[in-house]
Parts: sequence; structure tokens; C-alpha cells
Amino acid sequence: MGNDIRALGIDVGSTTVKVVGVDAEGSLAWHIVKPTDPRVEDQVSRLLARARAECDLSDGVPVVATGYGRGLVQQATRKVTEITCHARGIFRELGHGGTLVDIGGQDSKVIGVTAKGEVRDFAMNDKCAAGTGRFLENTAQRLRVPLDEMGGVALSVSEERAISSTCTVFAESEVISLLAHGVPVESILRGLHRSLIKRIAAMIRVVGLTAPLMLSGGVAQNAAIRQMLADEMSADVILPRHPQLMGAYGAALINTTHS
Ligand code: ADP
Repeated sequence: MGNDIRALGIDVGSTTVKVVGVDAEGSLAWHIVKPTDPRVEDQVSRLLARARAECDLSDGVPVVATGYGRGLVQQATRKVTEITCHARGIFRELGHGGTLVDIGGQDSKVIGVTAKGEVRDFAMNDKCAAGTGRFLENTAQRLRVPLDEMGGVALSVSEERAISSTCTVFAESEVISLLAHGVPVESILRGLHRSLIKRIAAMIRVVGLTAPLMLSGGVAQNAAIRQMLADEMSADVILPRHPQLMGAYGAALINTTHS
């Protein structure tokens, strides 16, 4: 209560819905993350009602929507693309530009951010699950490894079993076949991470790497992705405090003087 929230940002992703409140200084002061419900409009109403109650909001507080499902946010005072919002959020949080990689549940993006926090250019993959969080999630499920342990398990070995399938469905079959041949779970998981990283690296090369390399999105919480991306690109990878919230945070900043 009493967070002095001046604006809300809501990022309706394909996998999770994020709501962020910013205070008078433009700091991330309140947030919530929930798996995306099939009835998105009802879920958005519930989450915004919760934000209003918990943050003691007055009427007229701006609500800026972003993400794949932003068109479904009827309460939005403004709708903005997630490319702009991620760039805005990361720039405010880290205080510099560079090359931002955002890996979400069903899409991934590489965004060139200028020294002023504007979008220089970007590349986006929303066609192929193999470059997204979904790819790791599906295959890790097959390996019976929980989502938040995947990265640690992949990093626990140095031996890596390459996964040749470029499609999530075939990759799952390949994983089953490798298990049947006695290949250790850890090596398979490491190979799956490598496969995703190689796709991301190809996108980074299209946009061009301007240091520093920054990472946002839910998949940034995976330690193996952070480390293997750094190794693949021979560059340090910088993370904000709340990587999964950068889109919603940037949205909340859009109407403030702190953007
Ligand atoms: P979107 O905005 O596309 O809905 P997010 O940016 O919220 O997606 O990212 C969701 C993805 O993040 C999930 O598919 C999952 O793979 C990954 N993820 C979420 N939490 C974790 C975690 N603790 N460790 C590893 N990966 C995670």
C-alpha cells in the first residue's frame, strides 16, 4: 500500500503477463508476474484491480500496454510495441545503450539501443520455437528437469551432445533417441542450450554487436544461457535486476519524465 505509483505498465506476453508500477522517480516500485491465462481480458482486469488495490492508485493513472497481447488490454491509455518498451526499460535500468537480447517464451529479439536509449534497429524471431524459451521448456520436460534447474544442470558438465534438429518437435524426438542410447541427461541439456544460443548469436550478427551485450526476458534467469551466450559472443553479458520485467517497466516509463 502507499507505493506512490505514478504509472502502470502491462506486458501481455504469450507465456507470462507482467504488471509493473513506477514511482515518482521512475523506479520500479511494484510488480507481479503470472502465467498467461487463455482468458486474457479477464486476467488483465483481475491484475489491474489488484494493482489498484495494492498500490492505492488514484483514477487517471496511465496504463501503458505492450507485448504480443497488448491489443486485448481495454483499460490501456496507450499501446506501445515491446521493442520500444524493452529498450526504454533497459536504458533506464542500466543507464547505457548497447545490444539487447530479449528471449521470451515464444519469441526472441535482438535490439540495437543507442546511447540515448532509442531503438537503432532490431531483429525478431517469432516464427520458430527453436530460438525461444519454449524450446528449452519442452525438451527439459522430456528430461524431467525443472525449469529453474535447467541452467545449473547444463553447466554441471563440460561435455555437450549436439542436437541436430532445427525444429522443436524433432528435437524432442532426438532427445528421446539420445536417452535411449545412454547419453547423459546433462550433456543433452547442454547441447539444447547450445542450439538456442547459436540461433540467438546468428540474430545478433544480423543486427551487429555494439557492446555491451545486455539480456532481458524470462530466459535471462537461466544461468547457462547467460554464460554460454557470453562464451559464444566472446563478450560480457549484462543483466538488469529484473530481466523478465523490462518490457512492462519500459511501458510504465513511457508517459513519465523519466523515460
Ligand atoms: P513472454 O514475455 O514471451 O511471455 P517471458 O519473457 O516471461 O515470456 O519468458 C518466459 C520464459 O522464460 C519461459 O518460457 C521460460 O522458458 C523462461 N523462464 C521463466 N522463468 C525461468 C527460470 N527461473 N529459469 C529459466 N527459465 C525461465
